[in-house]
Amino acid sequence: MIPEPGKCSFYDTYIPIKQAQAQPGMINFGYGSPRPPKDITLIARRALRQEDADVFCPYDLPQGQLTLCKQIAQMLVHQGLEVFPEDLIITNGSQQGLSLAMNYYVKPGDWVIVEAPTYYGAISILENLGARIIGIPMTAEGMNLDLLEQYLHSHRPKLIYTITTFHNPTGLTTAQAHRQQLLALAEKYNCPILEDNAYEGLNFEPVPPPIKALDKNDVVTYLGTFSKTLMPGLRVGYMVVTGNNYQTIIEQKLLYDFHTSSISQIIVSEYLASGHYRRHLNKLRIDNLQSRYMMLQALERYFPEEARWTVPTGGLFLWVQLPDDLPIQKIRSEALAQNVYLACHSAFFPDKQGYPAMRLAFCLPQEDIEQGISIVGKLLKKYISKGHEQISNYQPLAYSI
Ligand code: PMP
Repeated sequence: MIPEPGKCSFYDTYIPIKQAQAQPGMINFGYGSPRPPKDITLIARRALRQEDADVFCPYDLPQGQLTLCKQIAQMLVHQGLEVFPEDLIITNGSQQGLSLAMNYYVKPGDWVIVEAPTYYGAISILENLGARIIGIPMTAEGMNLDLLEQYLHSHRPKLIYTITTFHNPTGLTTAQAHRQQLLALAEKYNCPILEDNAYEGLNFEPVPPPIKALDKNDVVTYLGTFSKTLMPGLRVGYMVVTGNNYQTIIEQKLLYDFHTSSISQIIVSEYLASGHYRRHLNKLRIDNLQSRYMMLQALERYFPEEARWTVPTGGLFLWVQLPDDLPIQKIRSEALAQNVYLACHSAFFPDKQGYPAMRLAFCLPQEDIEQGISIVGKLLKKYISKGHEQISNYQPLAYSI
């Protein structure tokens, strides 16, 4: 069930996480997905019962249903991003948005900038496209901008991929100043930005508006999704694409799959119209905040003092940095033997190596957090006391509190 070292494609990473999810009694720290809202079935039934619902029409428009686009545009205003419904494309999850945008901007052999670590699903798309990937190390403030400028100057990349809020896997959120500087650099070197905001809405504290909100020159393509707030199985995400970029991308969307499922769109639309969404988000944030607290407590209690972890102000994950030379693969196998699943850390690095670390999903039941963290903590202490205590020269993203 554990992928071999080096075998870290999206498929190699995703399938074991799903298998772990299906095992009864498994504590799965690899899976970051919210509990679906209890009233979703009710809302879904109501949506499909509506006489004027366009659900059963033969084919829909590639950009998605106008009602949903209008609702999303309204929702984005609350996050500080003003867009026209006409700038939106409803996608099959933000994964499809990543594919569409990356296919649009990147040709085989092009250089592309990503954060290191970053979301492995994006790395795999770029690899598939034959892109050459430059991983800019994450700092506690976000991607290292000095290094970014050096690479923009020397390699003239065709795209910068960034997860600005509750970054996957570190959980970090960049400040307004970092966003402004990143945009200024992208404009200076004429390099478009793909801003992935898959965890938007899951904030415990106010977050700065997305980079897209600062974009006056159609430099930024923005991605969002309902996978982390409603249900990933609905496969409803969206892109904000402005200016000349829109037409080519919408034509590609039509080629990919005509359009996103009308039924899924109508369910999301009904959920947004019902007024339940805001209430659901509030509950999700409270639950996640509580879970994050439980996990921080457990980490403090059970993890060795050499471990350092981030304290995200939202999202679903935190990131633990570990001493160098730890036999992580062995630790993962031993944890699995005790029914605890840990995602493969190297999958998050474009070089498939990175440094020893763990991405831990905290949206788990309280008792699982306590038990799972104590099991992993004991394993870490066992190997650290065997002489693997050397701290690597990565930049610490945060210190244990
Ligand atoms: N972007 C990021 C950063 C993610 O973590 C994920 C899924 N985990 C996605 C995009 C894709 O999600 P979806 O297609 O379900 O919207």
